[in-house]
Order: sequence, then C-alpha cells, then structure tokens
Amino acid sequence: MREKESFDAQQNQEGMMDNLNQQQINRLNTALVQREQALREDIRREMDAQDDYVQLASEVPDPGDQSFANLSVDLGNAAVTRDMHELRAIELARRRMSSGTYGECASCGYPIPFERLQAMPTAERCAPCQENFERTHNEGHRGATM
Ligand SMILES: [Zn+2]
Repeated sequence: MREKESFDAQQNQEGMMDNLNQQQINRLNTALVQREQALREDIRREMDAQDDYVQLASEVPDPGDQSFANLSVDLGNAAVTRDMHELRAIELARRRMSSGTYGECASCGYPIPFERLQAMPTAERCAPCQENFERTHNEGHRGATM
C-alpha cells in the first residue's frame, strides 16, 4: 500500500515536470526551426520585392525586438505582417522551450496535449483556454473599434 502511494506521488511529480518527453520536445523544436526558416525566407522575399524596404530586411533576425513588431505594421504588407506575427510566436515558443515552461498552458497551467502542440507548435494555451482567451480578446477589440 505504501509502495503504491509513493509510486503515485512520483508519477504525479514527473507528470507535472515532464509533460513532454525529450523526443517530443526535439520533434516540436525541429518543426519550429523549420517553420522559422520558411518564414524568414518568405519575409526576405516579400521585402526584396519592395526596393524601399531592402534596408529593413537586415532587421529580420531579431523578432524579439519591439521595433520589429512596429516595423511590420509600418510596412502595411499583410503577408509580411502575418509572417512576422508567426515568427514572433515561434521566438516565444523557443524561449519557453529553453526556460522549461514549453507545453504548459499560459492560462490554467496544465500541460497542453502533445497532439495539439504537434498541430500548432506555437500554442500557448490548451484548447479550452485558447477559445476562452480569443472570445475575451475579440470582445475587447469589438468594443474598441465599433
Ligand atoms: Zn488551459
């Protein structure tokens, strides 16, 4: 009986610490890296197509910088803006990976299922929390813009 108790406790503790095993993290990391490379190429191509912005393309390597986010808005290019938002999400996901919080829901703190992360490696929340977040978020926007 006592053995079983300590076994369960250990399981729970490990469950909280390691929602994802190393192999799963590696796979998701690879997916993020590949997606990031594809996005950077996209952005560079988009920017090269606009002579005026060739200079700015040199700033692409630092998506964590606030001016980077502003830059994408200034460009007024929907494709680049979308790519940059995703790039930013990837950057944040990789930071969570290095700090060990990757795969934890930002709202409820529970592990995000691997299947969800596989479909969306940048996911910050579990599906119910994300829905909830978007509903709240969108309502806020509607109130501000209409
Ligand atoms: Zn959640």
